[in-house]
Amino acid sequence: MTKRVVLIGHPVAHSLSGAMQQAAFDAQGIDASYELWDRAPIDLPEAVAELRGDDFLGANLTIPHKERAVPLVDRLTEEAHATGAVNTITREGKRLVGHNTDVVGFRTALDRLVGKQKMPRQAVVLGAGGGARAVIYGLIIEGFQRIIVFNRHLHRAEGMVRHFGRSAAHMELRAMPWHESIIESELVKSKVLVNATSIGLVSDDSPIPGDIISPELLVLDLIYSRTKLLRDAEAAGATAMDGELMLLHQGAAAFTLWTGQPAPLELMHSKLAEARAGGLRSAEGEPAGAASGASGGSGAAD
Ligand code: NDP
Repeated sequence: MTKRVVLIGHPVAHSLSGAMQQAAFDAQGIDASYELWDRAPIDLPEAVAELRGDDFLGANLTIPHKERAVPLVDRLTEEAHATGAVNTITREGKRLVGHNTDVVGFRTALDRLVGKQKMPRQAVVLGAGGGARAVIYGLIIEGFQRIIVFNRHLHRAEGMVRHFGRSAAHMELRAMPWHESIIESELVKSKVLVNATSIGLVSDDSPIPGDIISPELLVLDLIYSRTKLLRDAEAAGATAMDGELMLLHQGAAAFTLWTGQPAPLELMHSKLAEARAGGLRSAEGEPAGAASGASGGSGAAD
C-alpha cells in the first residue's frame, strides 16, 4: 500500500516541500506520496483526524495551521510544546505526535550564519507567527541573553513572549512596538537580526530601511529568496542568509521522523535549488510557476 504524507495549509497551491520530499521518498525506495491538502482553519480538526488512518505516515503543517494543530494531537515533543507550534505530525498507532522541526532547521541555519565566530547573545526578531516561535526557542536554546521582538500587531508579540515565560525566565525576552527608531536603537545593541515576517515574500519590500543595517550584523531572512532585506544587508557589508537551509533541515528532520531513515540531504538540496530556479519568489497560494519541473508541486510554501 502506498503510504501518504500530506502538507496541510491554506492555501497550499504549491510547495517547495513537495519537491524535496517526493524526490527523497523515491530515491530511498519508500513507497509514499507527498500530497497537498488545502484546508481552511475550520476544516483542520477533520483533516488531522484523518491522519490516524493506517495509510498515513504523517503530515507537514504550514500557514495558518501550525499553532491551531497543537490541541489536535495526542502528544507534543518538547520543541512543539515549548514553541506552541506544530509543523510535523507522525503517527504512533492511532495516536498522533506533534513535532516542531523548524527549531532544528533554524538552529542549523544560525550555526552556518555565525560560522567560526562566538555565538552572539543579543538578537532582534521581526515577526510573531509560527516561524518566529521556532526562531525564539532556537535562540533561547543557543543561550541568547537578550531577544527583542517587533511585530506589526504588538499584542501578538506580547502573547508569544508570555508563552515563552518559563523557558525565557533566565534571560530578557521582550516585545516592543514596531517603530523604525526603536528597531534602529535595538539593532545597535544586537549582533543577529532575523526576519520572520512574510514581508518580502510576494513584494520586493523590506521590513526595515537598509541604512540602519550595520556591517557587523548577521542577518537571516526565513524567506527562501534573495529578498530586499538581504540585498540591503549585503550592500551594507553585513553577513546575510536566506531561509533555504532552514527549510532543507526542517524537511530532512521530518523525513527521518516519518520513515526512520536518514534523509538524502544532497538530493533534497538539489531538488530545492531546482524548484527555486523555476522562478520561486512566490507565496503560498500564488498560481504555480509554469517553469518549475519539480515533482509533487512547486512553489514557495514551506
Ligand atoms: P505567520 O502567518 O504565522 O506570520 C506572519 C508574520 O508576518 C506575522 O508576524 C505578521 O505580523 C507578519 N506580517 C505579514 N504581513 C505583514 C505586513 N504587511 N507588515 C508587517 N508584518 C507583516 O507565518 P509564519 O510565521 O509561518 O511565516 C513567516 C515567514 O517565514 C513566511 O515568509 C514563511 O514562508 C517563512 N518561513 C520559513 C521557514 C523556513 O523553513 N525557511 C519556516 C517557517 C516560516 P502580524 O502578526 O502583525 O500579522
